Amino acid sequence: MPVSPALAEDLAAAVADLYEAAQGTIIERIRDALAADIDSPLWLELKAASIGDLQAAVQAVIDALQLEASGAMQQAVAEAYERGQQAAVAELGALAAGQAAAATSAVPAAAAVDRLANALIADTGPVHMRILRQTMDVYREVIAHASSAPLLGAQTRRQAAQTALDRFTARGVTGFIDRAGRSWDMRSYVEMATRSTVGRAAIEAHTDRLGAAGIELVMVSDSPEECPLCRPWEGKILSRAGAPGARTIEAEHATEDEQMVSVDIAGSLDEARAAGLLHPNCRHDVRAYLPGLTKRPPKPPGRGTYEDTQRQRYYERQIRRWKREAAGAMDEQKATAARTKVRAYQARIRDLVDETGLPRKSRREQLTAAR
Ligand SMILES: [Zn+2]
Repeated sequence: MPVSPALAEDLAAAVADLYEAAQGTIIERIRDALAADIDSPLWLELKAASIGDLQAAVQAVIDALQLEASGAMQQAVAEAYERGQQAAVAELGALAAGQAAAATSAVPAAAAVDRLANALIADTGPVHMRILRQTMDVYREVIAHASSAPLLGAQTRRQAAQTALDRFTARGVTGFIDRAGRSWDMRSYVEMATRSTVGRAAIEAHTDRLGAAGIELVMVSDSPEECPLCRPWEGKILSRAGAPGARTIEAEHATEDEQMVSVDIAGSLDEARAAGLLHPNCRHDVRAYLPGLTKRPPKPPGRGTYEDTQRQRYYERQIRRWKREAAGAMDEQKATAARTKVRAYQARIRDLVDETGLPRKSRREQLTAAR
């Protein structure tokens, strides 16, 4: 079976869920801290005095998150690597020339898994600092606002607290910049980083296993809804390892003795990936290429365009945003308004799915419950 980043991308959601759940818990902690004693004339003093308590409570949530997340990342990468190897074994078993090769023993995984998982844990390390800083900033902002007008009534205080909390709930912990300079919210950033790593693990495992079976060439699929980055690589043959650059080689026919076939190689797999092929969310896959045997597979029918899939992702983000807002609401009116927004974006997704035939991904519209 060919391998694509999609083989493992579901594993990233479990990791990102941990971050979303922690964010939900933290929002509840701030909301409860602000709401406590809100009718007391001493509210401002009480809040200022309890900054340290809230900070300790938030830090405890983050510590638990960090521990759980590194375990989950390690596990996701190991599972992705295993799936990649299994895909290679299944693929080799289905190839006339590959049956014997399929029996070759598994490529040892531990070193590759550790290397990939540790890089991911290091990449997402700064996320935890940022959670603490932005969370405490929201709380301080509310107190600073209240101190500037200390005679405000409880009702006004409640409104001011709600406004600040809403702003935070709407955007979440934010400001993560990837290598391409794009800005991400926390969940999307963690999910993107994890997807990228588990996708890499599945592909590395697959091609390492092909390599162990003596297969040095792979072919890129034709995909529906292909993104512009990958279009130039569709149907191309790449070398699993080795030098970049296009070339034509004479290769032994996979099954006919002493017959040579010329093969046009578009470059190396690393080179194509550096240029964007098999990026996170990529629909393409690579499969073993056997000279003289492997044919370019037909292009599967499309379901909507790449832009349609991006529109669906946007609606999903809006649904999660308004669900968060409903959960952080300090009164029923706010909660109702937020739920109306949720339903409006759900209706837009239903229309999009009806129009294009794209599959609906209900899971991506869910907010992970806070633990
Ligand atoms: Zn792609």
